[in-house]
Amino acid sequence: MLLFVIYLWLLWWAIAFFPVKWVSVKKLPAIAMTIAPFILYNPDRYFLYNKERLIKHEMRHIQQQRMLSPAIMLILYLAFSIILFVFYLAKYHSLKYAFMKCYRENPFEVDARKYERPI
Ligand SMILES: [Zn+2]
Repeated sequence: MLLFVIYLWLLWWAIAFFPVKWVSVKKLPAIAMTIAPFILYNPDRYFLYNKERLIKHEMRHIQQQRMLSPAIMLILYLAFSIILFVFYLAKYHSLKYAFMKCYRENPFEVDARKYERPI
């Protein structure tokens, strides 16, 4: 069983290096979401973001997943989100604000936003 999980983890990591494919997902609850090698985007919302910035942002998430492996990056992303959500919920007593802050302050998002800027 453990070997099978390791095999899947390594296989997914290898697949993350395939050419990036943008996939339109109508009901996506976000502007875009990266699960390497796919970048899922909501066709009804993605124009809300500057296109060049969005591409740079999501490509940085691809890089993060290629460096750490997609499974490890996504687990760390979720872990940071949960810890930050609980922290900000305890601090501000607002679900909406805690949700927004846990997304904004997630280290992976902070890092991706740095790459949005023109060089
Ligand atoms: Zn992001």
